[in-house]
Amino acid sequence: MRHILSYLFVILSITFCSSQLANISDQLDTALTKLYNTGRFNGAVLYAEHGKILFQKSLGVTDITSNRPLTWESSFNLASISKQFVAICVMMLDEKGKLNIDDNVKKYIPELPNENVSIRHLLTHTSGIPDYESLFIQNRSPLDTLDNEKMVKLFVNLKPSTEFEPGTKWNYSNTAYILLAVIIERISKQTLTYFVNENIVKPLGLKHTYVHNVYNSNIPATHVRGFSENDGKRVINDLFYIDGVMGDGNFYASTGDLLNWEQALNTEKLIKKSTLIKVFSPVKLKDGTKYPYGFGWFIDKENEQYSHTGSWVGFKNLIIRDVKNQRTLIFLSSGDNELARNAVRSIFNGSAASIPVTFLITNIRLIDGTNIPAGNVSVRIEGDKISAVGDLKPYKDEIIEDGQGKILAPGFIDTHSHIESSLNRMPEAIAALNQGITTIVSGQDGGSYLMDTLKMRFEKTPRAVNVATYTGHATLREMVMGNHDLNRMSTPEELVKMKNLLAEELSKGSLGLSTGLEYEEGFYASRYEVIELAKVAANAKTRYISHIRSEDVNMSEAIDEIIDIGRIAKLPVQISHLKIALKDEWGTGPALLAKLQSARMDGIDITADCYPYDFWNSTIRVLFPKKNFTSLSGSNYAIDHLFDPFGSVMVRFTPEPSYIGKTIAEIANMRKENIANTLLYLVAAAESYEKDYPEASGIETIMGKSMTDSDIVPFLSWAHTNICSDGAIGGHPRGFGAFTRVLGYYVRDKKIMSLENAIQKMTSLAAEHVGLKKRGVIASGYYADMVLLDPKIVKDNSDIKNPSALSDGILAVWVNGVKVYKDKTSTKKYPGKLLLKE
Ligand SMILES: [Zn+2]
Repeated sequence: MRHILSYLFVILSITFCSSQLANISDQLDTALTKLYNTGRFNGAVLYAEHGKILFQKSLGVTDITSNRPLTWESSFNLASISKQFVAICVMMLDEKGKLNIDDNVKKYIPELPNENVSIRHLLTHTSGIPDYESLFIQNRSPLDTLDNEKMVKLFVNLKPSTEFEPGTKWNYSNTAYILLAVIIERISKQTLTYFVNENIVKPLGLKHTYVHNVYNSNIPATHVRGFSENDGKRVINDLFYIDGVMGDGNFYASTGDLLNWEQALNTEKLIKKSTLIKVFSPVKLKDGTKYPYGFGWFIDKENEQYSHTGSWVGFKNLIIRDVKNQRTLIFLSSGDNELARNAVRSIFNGSAASIPVTFLITNIRLIDGTNIPAGNVSVRIEGDKISAVGDLKPYKDEIIEDGQGKILAPGFIDTHSHIESSLNRMPEAIAALNQGITTIVSGQDGGSYLMDTLKMRFEKTPRAVNVATYTGHATLREMVMGNHDLNRMSTPEELVKMKNLLAEELSKGSLGLSTGLEYEEGFYASRYEVIELAKVAANAKTRYISHIRSEDVNMSEAIDEIIDIGRIAKLPVQISHLKIALKDEWGTGPALLAKLQSARMDGIDITADCYPYDFWNSTIRVLFPKKNFTSLSGSNYAIDHLFDPFGSVMVRFTPEPSYIGKTIAEIANMRKENIANTLLYLVAAAESYEKDYPEASGIETIMGKSMTDSDIVPFLSWAHTNICSDGAIGGHPRGFGAFTRVLGYYVRDKKIMSLENAIQKMTSLAAEHVGLKKRGVIASGYYADMVLLDPKIVKDNSDIKNPSALSDGILAVWVNGVKVYKDKTSTKKYPGKLLLKE
């Protein structure tokens, strides 16, 4: 019966194999050819079933300096695949009774300081002995090269403590396999090279297998040298001063030899079957649990599949043996690209290989976001990232984008945006894209979505732009204190609840704490409350961003407050939309910046963002800084000091829609009363409307003219200011034009700074100020958020009358490598990501 069953099984698995056969070879061929043609593979691959080679291909060169082509005889540095050879050598000595794998290592290396380590611990990476590489690099004298005996001496001299009790944990250890090599040499009284030659290479008839290190000058013609690739340029990256060692790596072999080696593991040519079983059994830890690693092999599936990768300077390798179906994959490559290795592993395991497409943007002037002068280079995009920048040649059949000689810059990062609330309706995010913005930072002025809500919004309606968020102070207050009880300080119990909520949000990826202390939801919070919350943000290594408590009469105290918060809570603090909205103080911007600079010199990381307009957009209530909304003197004060009623326009006013679009002076005229009384009327009418319709939101909004270029220009120019929009959909024209207004009006027309500097303030500086990684620079490894713009015509067209007019000169925008905007139109692609604090 057993017989019949296993016979059936064999037939079944053969059927499985032959139907897969053509498929696997074809898939390997397609994937490797494609990767080779696009410069992402240089190596040799072999696929066999029952020891018979069904697919074999070598593509590329042995040495980038000689360009000699690779062949099936080429020998690659196996890196960690070497460990399985060392393990078998040890087991040979065990079989001969020269050692017992449960012997204490000190029996053979008595000078080793680490206690209670057995040979088995070394074989299975459970010794707890720390890795040698950084120990050596930190303690080496110049020009010193490491070898195996020197490594032992390093441990004798430095006595690094064991990281855990041997046998209790698994932790990959290169040191362990060098110690095993030392043991082999000391017991056999032969060099490792000689031992391997006599016991493996000769018996198996291997032609292209050898141990090699930097001391070895006898280099065969088939020897492959490692390399790395940076920005399209290949450079030698091969053995260096660590590589006098052998055992953890530095065995060399060809794909064919490796197949012979792998096949020998099905026989007793090297060691007995009973010993082989030990080699391929998972290690048992002290607590009885198993870890899927044998002696030099990872166990993908017990009794079915084993594998090992090998990665060292300029080499990426893989060997997989599927003993159940007798299939073998050998992948040896030089270079540092991992795509091919991942692809062949996927194909071997029956899933499709994912090979990201590339495209090349040429004929551009690159402004990379770091404030260095523009240059003529090309940029290659691979998947969602930039893979190379430089003088790049297109690959065969590669898609090329002609930049028409225009500027390519990183996509702009808007550190203060209010458009997220509209993105479910308008996921194309044209408001952002038309001005080159690819990432918006939400949750500003104290109001935010919770992280879970934002994740759901994103999943339900993918967006064209990336979104990150702060957690709002007012939102925390509303959740804990209730929507209608905010005009007071929090109780200690409430504060604890807010702190816990904030900590939870930060752990889910919020960028930090945002406050809007000028608004009533935040205004009544004590400084203590804000500082205690800011400390939670500091603990999570996040940041504080604030619409400060006053931008007019009490601005000086408000600035002191945010500096204090930075000092006491010890975290970076940013002033949102820096402005001076008190007419009496116009022109004092430089003095304010001097104060901020002095705080920076005291070690407080204070920065700002700023939008390029001399009028703001808010509730009329901010015109009453003392919250005396019915006082005629308060109203007169606002007119005299805080805004210009002849230049300030009602944007929204639900109680009386005919006032929309009119200046406050015009409304007063319509009402045939003076301006001060009109202002009081507007506040009162909105308030009573809200009482009647408590669900209504956005009842009134005013665009208040109260700033001047004599402050805006120094604010925009300060080295620690990045650009923001503070924009929403509709209302203030900044929602569609802030960034293009800086580029057109302030940079090209008024020449307040260079284009490179302005772009830095929209990209890398913005990313730095909100703690976003791998965005805001065009360099290899960064996400491919990019904007192509024409500096000669770039300009904002949105104004008070037409706040949604699209900008000129933004030719194309990419988010995560996908083009989302072209010719003033959305491409209807939604590759935006929810960006979490890393
Ligand atoms: Zn604000």
